[in-house]
Amino acid sequence: MKENKPQTTETLNPAEMARLQLEKAAKVMNLDPGLLEILRHPKRVVEVSIPVRMDNGEIKVFTGFRCQYNDFRGPFKGGIRFHPQVTKEEVIALAAWMTWKCALVDIPFGGAKGGVICDPTKMSQGELERLTRRFTYTLMPLLGPDIDIPAPDVFTGEKTMAWIMDTYSIFQGYNAPGVVTGKSLMIGGSPGRREATGRGVSIVARKTLELFGESLEGKSVAIQGFGNVGSFAAKFLSEFGARVVAISDVTGGVYQEEGLPIPELMAYAKESGGVAGFPGVRPIRNEDLLTLPVDLLVPAALEGQIHEGNAHDVRARYIVEGANGPVTPRADEILREKGVHIVPDILANAGGVIVSYFEWVQDKTGMAWEVEEVNRRLQTKLERATVEVKETAERYQTDWRTASYILAIERIQEVYEERGLFP
Ligand code: GLU
Repeated sequence: MKENKPQTTETLNPAEMARLQLEKAAKVMNLDPGLLEILRHPKRVVEVSIPVRMDNGEIKVFTGFRCQYNDFRGPFKGGIRFHPQVTKEEVIALAAWMTWKCALVDIPFGGAKGGVICDPTKMSQGELERLTRRFTYTLMPLLGPDIDIPAPDVFTGEKTMAWIMDTYSIFQGYNAPGVVTGKSLMIGGSPGRREATGRGVSIVARKTLELFGESLEGKSVAIQGFGNVGSFAAKFLSEFGARVVAISDVTGGVYQEEGLPIPELMAYAKESGGVAGFPGVRPIRNEDLLTLPVDLLVPAALEGQIHEGNAHDVRARYIVEGANGPVTPRADEILREKGVHIVPDILANAGGVIVSYFEWVQDKTGMAWEVEEVNRRLQTKLERATVEVKETAERYQTDWRTASYILAIERIQEVYEERGLFP
């Protein structure tokens, strides 16, 4: 995760960003003002203190959040991130984006997100386990397979999900695998979930190019971030025939004109903690990666990476958003004027939550699917959504982000109108 502090006067409060995006779509689709007013507000935001005994015997109190944004279409759904820069506003924005994402790809979930302000790279496994279990315990009344279902996000993974599932199950008195997704296979995870977000990014990128009469074959790609999303996006994009020429992460960046050897780079990064120092390739700075003259740029790190300060220098033809919120609203405008086509996060990175949905269905029914089944259904859902976004963009003469919001909001609106407003 490269933390490239944005050099800009533009407001980067992610909640503000999410609100601007929503309001733009509401205007273009002429949304009922009452529904807009509802959708501008999260249903519930909780802030909790999490006391943890550290390995040296000291007690440290961490701050955590869970935002349950909207549940018109189904239980709240969304990841939990552990990161030093987590804020309440960020968690609210991420929860809003989950709401639109689930509606856009038509899975029966609402949107939520959680975060804990901590630096997991400086904590032991024992400390992380105690933090996760205490956070879960504190949120317990708000969680459940039919209430709110967390999943991995930045710096959380299968092990974190196992601790949540175990803690929740102990208090229920029975195994409740459906309370989280993104678990290991042996405790009710789904085959294909680990790769799903990166695979989805690649499927959506390939379909987008196809819809514009192009092919992914031989196209150059630069990827910012080499965590779960960036690494699997690199793997599948190169398997689909693209040339991944540059990758950066928190340790540095690597560049090779003929395409980087992704499996070797993945093995190297796993071993050494990052891509920097990978032998036989040129180093590249993160800032320079963002402005490479590539066909596709995939920001797969944190929010706000492409902003007013650097958007003018972007030379990619397409930006496929692997991260949530990597492009600020001001940068969005600048890039559109430059003719850069942006495939928005809520479409491009929806593969993760789609397979989370398949995992949840498997947990509910007790029936495990084959990986081929998971991948086939993932592809169908994402390709359909990509076509629908293109059609909606044409219908409203608007950009893909706004079109994605419109589609998502239309689906939420149908449910809202059918169910009505209580009381
Ligand atoms: N954290 C992922 C996202 O932002 C996945 C969420 C999920 O699977 O619930 O989409």
